[in-house]
Amino acid sequence: MAFTYDPDMKAKERMQIPRQPMPEQDPQVRNTNFEEVNFGLEEEAARTEAMRCLQCNPPKCVPGCPVTIDIPAFIKLIAAGEHMLAAAKLKEDNSLPAVCGRVCPQEEQCEQLCIIGKKGNPVAVGNLERFAADWELKYSTEKPEPVSIRTRRKIAIVGGGPSGLACAGDLVKSGHEVHVFEALHDIGGVLVYGIPEFRLPKSIVRREVDNLAAAGVHFHTNIVVGKLDTIDELMQDEGFDAVFIGVGAGLPYFMNIPGENLIGVYSANEYLTRVNLMKAYNFPDADTPMLDLKGKNVAVVGGGNTAMDAVRTALRLGAENGYLLYRRSDAEMPARDEEIHHAREEGVQFKMLQAPTEYIGDESGRVVKARVIKMELGEPDDSGRRRPHPMEGSEYELDIDAVVVAIGNGSNPLLKQTTPDMDFNKWGNIVADEATMRTSKKGVFAGGDIVTGGATVILAMGAGRVAASSIEQYLEDGKW
Ligand code: FAD
Ligand code: SF4
Repeated sequence: MAFTYDPDMKAKERMQIPRQPMPEQDPQVRNTNFEEVNFGLEEEAARTEAMRCLQCNPPKCVPGCPVTIDIPAFIKLIAAGEHMLAAAKLKEDNSLPAVCGRVCPQEEQCEQLCIIGKKGNPVAVGNLERFAADWELKYSTEKPEPVSIRTRRKIAIVGGGPSGLACAGDLVKSGHEVHVFEALHDIGGVLVYGIPEFRLPKSIVRREVDNLAAAGVHFHTNIVVGKLDTIDELMQDEGFDAVFIGVGAGLPYFMNIPGENLIGVYSANEYLTRVNLMKAYNFPDADTPMLDLKGKNVAVVGGGNTAMDAVRTALRLGAENGYLLYRRSDAEMPARDEEIHHAREEGVQFKMLQAPTEYIGDESGRVVKARVIKMELGEPDDSGRRRPHPMEGSEYELDIDAVVVAIGNGSNPLLKQTTPDMDFNKWGNIVADEATMRTSKKGVFAGGDIVTGGATVILAMGAGRVAASSIEQYLEDGKW
């Protein structure tokens, strides 16, 4: 339908406007390239979609947003054609809207609660968030002003992922001297080393990081805190008044089954890092080699976003068959609906209710087969999902050339070993107060995946912002 802006349009008419589809690359073309799958809404489609919002009072959607964005307000601005103002409204609560508009699981958050969704398709809050943020990235000519350091307070941020960046962004605005220490050679955490280019272009993350650097945040890469300086040394020797720890959950879990040390068996972390951060798909132009997957059979084990990213990446690297082995069924899969849908369209072969029991190698130690067992579901376990049970006698062999294990991550023990007076829980996560992100150690705050275990970008950013505000308080009154 052609767009007409009518702020007085009745609810009944608004509800008759169909949800505007997200334009995307053809599945058979995109599964051969690393370019972004979704193109983003055109302006007319975005304004039409925005007109679908009923401007509820109170809005049902907002409690579903972990950082309580004023959703009807930013959508109303898009409908009125005030896209820059819409982006500014988003930024009041979310410092990385172009990222969140692409990767947040809106279908489980704001959109799940949207009142329009009760009778039809909910308002596409995520697509609109992306539209406004991209508009600003494209058309804004404003350069971030360097913030003058006014307070003589120094804060160390350990980890350059979304939690650390959100914390750094708020603290630098208040005039503190902020230093981010990152173990890898690039800033962004999972946004640059985990989530592939075809879902989140690295240029978007780079632009946000550049803005923070222009505003005065100091970035130090290739620094592993705990190896070079400990947290205590940062505070006692380097003069930091407070520390925020946002080191994520980057230690991959394995299944501990025979054959996991064969050549060609990767953790999702290593595999995605090689492809995303080191650009291994450009080898030999890039420095990092990677097993040539052209024409090969690749099995990915797991059912989350990481597994989906890994198997879709395998197809783009030229794999003939990309299998996804998941021990439960579709209903229990934790990956985003959109990712599952895109993976199916691109030709990923879902082997549900199946799990590997062993990998078999050839004489040179290279994986050539997986022994796979079929499962059936029993009673729900602690996570509320039905527990898979192996079916006796159902094992079979699957020819494979590579395996990517994507069954989750734990926390790296380095900080636990080097910060003995800080509390960690039995999973190795830092214990932090939910309301303030204070740890048990004076002056030290923590947030993101290192506290919650693997979660989401928006939760990590929300934690970083809560920590920033608590750090302000602590710097002001010194109370612990
Ligand atoms: P991270 O992003 O992990 O960043 C931590 C940073 O700290 C890293 O850069 C690391 O190198 C650095 N670091 C670690 N140890 C040290 C040290 N000792 N010294 C210095 N630096 C250190 N979430 C979504 O919402 N939507 C998605 O679609 C989605 N897809 C995902 C896909 C993949 C492949 C993965 C792995 C995760 C995905 N997630 C997704 C989860 C989301 O990315 C994380 O929840 C989020 O990035 C956590 O942010 P963080 O800041 O806590 O940690
Ligand atoms: Fe708009 Fe849906 Fe939120 Fe209501 S619940 S304000 S219709 S997005």
